[in-house]
Amino acid sequence: MQFRRLLITTAVAAGTVLPAHAGTLVEPSLHLKKSAAGETRVALTLDACGGRTDNRILSALIDNRIPATVFVTGLWLKRNAVAFALMRAHPELFEIENHGGRHVPAVDAPMKIYGIRAAGSAEAVAAEVEAGAAAITGTGTVAPRWFRGATAKYSGTALAQIKALGFRIAGYSINADGGSLLSAGATERRVAAAKDGDVLIAHINQPSHAAGAGLVKGLLALKAKGVTFVRLDDADGDGSYELDR
Ligand SMILES: [Zn+2]
Repeated sequence: MQFRRLLITTAVAAGTVLPAHAGTLVEPSLHLKKSAAGETRVALTLDACGGRTDNRILSALIDNRIPATVFVTGLWLKRNAVAFALMRAHPELFEIENHGGRHVPAVDAPMKIYGIRAAGSAEAVAAEVEAGAAAITGTGTVAPRWFRGATAKYSGTALAQIKALGFRIAGYSINADGGSLLSAGATERRVAAAKDGDVLIAHINQPSHAAGAGLVKGLLALKAKGVTFVRLDDADGDGSYELDR
């Protein structure tokens, strides 16, 4: 499949304030720039935080030729070799990117986010980012260029640090599955409502949750409407983020 190169624009989610200190978190949003050709383009991003693989999603993407950007952790890679091999067997569909080594939030101050203990220091943020990248390159696949931290929340100083390590920050514009906790119907509706330029986030590591079935239905509805699915590496942007508006 031929993909047009895209420009990506980024902004901080509405209501987020410039971090005045390391304890203030930001959650960058991400949109694809509008298509001059009038196409409707949507980027599907899937997090593989840990746990297992939702084969309902994986097989639907393969069967329907829907490309996706998959953010994997070192933890997930260790436990899901068969699913990862299936993704690697379809490089035209799956772009593999960095979700960290141990699924530790990239926040350089001690705190908990959704009950998950943050990295807590700049050194620990670097270790999380670098361990995630090493786990991916260790499989022999292409080195990741995008990073999405666990919980998708960051301290401003950690964002700058991750950029300095050479990664673009993978925000999103539609939280499709509410951390995999939404019902099938709610997930389907959120996905099916995607507009040109949207970047969807959902999870591919919760096979027992209802959200995965809804995600598949929503994606098939978008495909039936003629939506073109793109991956983040099909994008062309400078990776700069407006953190201070
Ligand atoms: Zn995650």
